[in-house]
Amino acid sequence: MYGLGNRIYPIRHGEPGHGPVAYWMSRDQRVSDNWALVFAQDTAIRHAVPLVVVFSIAGTFLGASRRQYGFMLRGLKQVAERLKGLSIPFFAIPGEPARVLPEFIERNSISLLVTDFDPLRIKARWREDVARAVHIPFYEVDTHNIVPCRLVSDKREYGAYTLRKKIGKLLPSFLGEIPAAQGHPYDFGREGKPLDPDGLLDLLRVDASLKELPGRIAGEKEAAAVLSSFLDHLDRYGTERNDPTRNGQSRLSPYLHFGQISAQRVALEVKRCHAKDTAKESFLEELIVRRELSDNYCHYTPHYDSFAAFPEWARKTLDDHRRDKRDYLYSRDELELAATHDPLWNAAQLQMVSTGSMHGYMRMYWAKKILEWTASPEEALSAAIYLNDRYQLDGRDPNGYAGIAWSIGGLHDRPWGERNIFGKIRYMSYNGCASKFNVKRYIEAFKPGV
Ligand SMILES: Cc1cc2nc3c(=O)[nH]c(=O)nc-3n(C[C@H](O)[C@H](O)[C@H](O)COP(=O)(O)OP(=O)(O)OC[C@H]3O[C@@H](n4cnc5c(N)ncnc54)[C@H](O)[C@@H]3O)c2cc1C
Repeated sequence: MYGLGNRIYPIRHGEPGHGPVAYWMSRDQRVSDNWALVFAQDTAIRHAVPLVVVFSIAGTFLGASRRQYGFMLRGLKQVAERLKGLSIPFFAIPGEPARVLPEFIERNSISLLVTDFDPLRIKARWREDVARAVHIPFYEVDTHNIVPCRLVSDKREYGAYTLRKKIGKLLPSFLGEIPAAQGHPYDFGREGKPLDPDGLLDLLRVDASLKELPGRIAGEKEAAAVLSSFLDHLDRYGTERNDPTRNGQSRLSPYLHFGQISAQRVALEVKRCHAKDTAKESFLEELIVRRELSDNYCHYTPHYDSFAAFPEWARKTLDDHRRDKRDYLYSRDELELAATHDPLWNAAQLQMVSTGSMHGYMRMYWAKKILEWTASPEEALSAAIYLNDRYQLDGRDPNGYAGIAWSIGGLHDRPWGERNIFGKIRYMSYNGCASKFNVKRYIEAFKPGV
């Protein structure tokens, strides 16, 4: 099975006993194309034991509100239903993993635990806490990256140019078909509980200050439909993806973020479709190299969301320009209310607030202007992360932390010509945007009250 062995990282080695195997699903919330589920089932079948999938749901998670929780829970409801059809029970348990998983494992005599890979600090802590509390074999499977993050490199990479080479060498051994989960032949003895998203949102008292986004449909089925419609216009990716007034991008990021679709499936379908090679290549560069570079950054930089994580040259140049005069200074509240002097920036902020997804090109401009208009790089970083994680449906993702660090702190970039406030950090301007796309049309689409 295409490199499955190299996706597995033993947290605690060992053979299972006679009890069921449990897959603690976390980042990769899907049934299709899920290597962690495949490994858990394969292990359970080899030992002739039942298989169960468990998801622990904490009531707070890095500032997520009903906007993100609702999307996740509606996707998980479909996971529970599909697993039921395969005789694999699914349990969503309210509470922090270290509190609820050991009890679940004990009560159900689980003999081996599998989870998926996630480079975020909180997830690493959860895994460590659970590993300390349970005494059974425990394995992590990287089913988010096409080439496993721990394998492709053992250090933080300098940039896309260094990771691209490493990924390129390994990709042919990993980019193959993924086996499907089967109907499970060994009975767990009790059925999973149907998942009730509304009931859980209330029970967990999830922050209701941001409601769910009407029209944003979650789940594997919708993710596949979004992919299919993107493949029909993939040719436009090469020419239109940097134009925020056009529909050139895939809009797959919320589905990739919640693991409702596998990046490997997306890459396989893109390779097979009839689009131009240039469009395919530029999309696969983002989907594979840039996305996996973000996991590499967060995995090997545990303080990925701080000034100290920026490259040395960037910290130095930002320090040299700390005292530069700012023509505009905005508080986090003013930024949040899109109350700046710049209608283009305000439109980007309003697009994110109202739709849950700012266009990719505007994300760079948006974050760079926050650096220009706040008192320090630290304040800029903290405001950008707060706003990104609060409003984007795909927020709290390694791509977000890397993208913000790229914009504000020169991560994975090089020094550019020196200027006020930015020092040698790459600059973006309103006029630069106006030379690339119809800024008036974008501003018109996302003005206050629209
Ligand atoms: C300041 C800033 C903040 C960002 N915040 C997030 C975030 O919170 N969550 C998030 O998923 N992405 C984030 N990105 C990365 C990127 O902008 C989005 O992934 C992309 O715009 C999502 O739209 P799409 O799925 O239509 O992208 P497409 O262009 O269709 O790309 C397909 C996929 O490739 C990956 N990808 C594309 N661009 C990048 C990139 N620059 N870096 C890493 N991966 C990429 C994503 O997984 C994306 O879904 C951020 C970028 C910046 C500069």
